[in-house]
Amino acid sequence: MSFQPPQRVLMGPGPADVPNRILHALAKPTIGHLDPAFGVLMEEIKQLLRYGFQTKNDLTIPLSAPGSAGMECCFVNLVEPGDTVIVCQNGAFGARMRENVERCGATPVMVMDDWGAAINPQKLEDALKSHPEAKAVALVQAETSTGVLSDVETLCALAHAHDCLTIVDAVTSLGGSELRVDDWKIDAVYSGTQKCLSCPPGLSPVSFSPRAVDVISRRKTKVQSWFLDLNLVMDYWTSDGPRTYHHTAPINALYGLHEALLILQEEGLENAWQRHQTGHEKLCQGLNDIGLELLVKPEDRLPQLNSVLVPSHITDEAALRRRLLDQFNLEIGAGLGELAGKVWRIGLMGHSCRNENIQTCIQALKTVLN
Ligand SMILES: *Cc1c(COP(=O)(O)O)cnc(C)c1O
Repeated sequence: MSFQPPQRVLMGPGPADVPNRILHALAKPTIGHLDPAFGVLMEEIKQLLRYGFQTKNDLTIPLSAPGSAGMECCFVNLVEPGDTVIVCQNGAFGARMRENVERCGATPVMVMDDWGAAINPQKLEDALKSHPEAKAVALVQAETSTGVLSDVETLCALAHAHDCLTIVDAVTSLGGSELRVDDWKIDAVYSGTQKCLSCPPGLSPVSFSPRAVDVISRRKTKVQSWFLDLNLVMDYWTSDGPRTYHHTAPINALYGLHEALLILQEEGLENAWQRHQTGHEKLCQGLNDIGLELLVKPEDRLPQLNSVLVPSHITDEAALRRRLLDQFNLEIGAGLGELAGKVWRIGLMGHSCRNENIQTCIQALKTVLN
């Protein structure tokens, strides 16, 4: 029997709801990855991604793997054994960055902030002053584990003032919150398709500045990952000359990404950012009306991921989420790490950020809480 997935409303930390227009794009006939027609699609995707990231970077491509591979790609290409990298950690994903730095044979210097707080620029500046040997600063713009948005513009300016490269996790921010790769001087940025782009998971858009490309081309050691070595991947995504086979791109998944990026362009980036902000305000009002509170203070909130405090009288929060799924076909996220059991994570990402979803969610929560 063919698998029949249930029809869910996806309001967790990703994946988000995928609109029919993208599902239909995914179902178009598969062609060869070296077909000239596919080359045209690749060029259009690169162009559309530059718009999404607000960059002119030549090296702007989707990696054939999820957001975690985008993270790993940034580290394995830019970091060499013996380097020092400052990692700002204010949630689960900063901890993974630290892992990546260590696995590259480099030394992480941690700038720690509480789960639920934004990255503190003063702490970063102190770390930069006491570690003049640092090569790069890595940070997460939108911490999906807590629902916090950090000030990337300020943090990247500090890093550059101390001559460091910047590596930014924009997995949950691309298409959902203001992100300006060139203006903010981000050297390496990675994202994912299943958050605010509303695609299925499995691809990671990345972009590297000319300065980062220069660092990669002057490496003393080979990139330890063959699959993620950008020196090789670049020849597959090149626009001048014949493309050389590296791996077989996930052809249909790229049809989906192309459609998602067209949708983003049609809506307009600024409008998309505003839609997430407006949806977030409506959700907060609704949550407030039924007596629920958010973890994060208003000025640090990430519109597309809302961490809601589990009321103290709820003894089994997992059972409540199960009821939302069974009775309302509604998925919301559980708390992660030190917030496990303490918060629910309600996502408003991409196509999931719609009034009808917000209403459904508030009504469903109201019913199960009573
Ligand atoms: C989801 C997410 C990732 C990981 O992406 P995957 O596609 O699950 O590998 C990394 N960073 C952040 C901030 C995320 O939200």
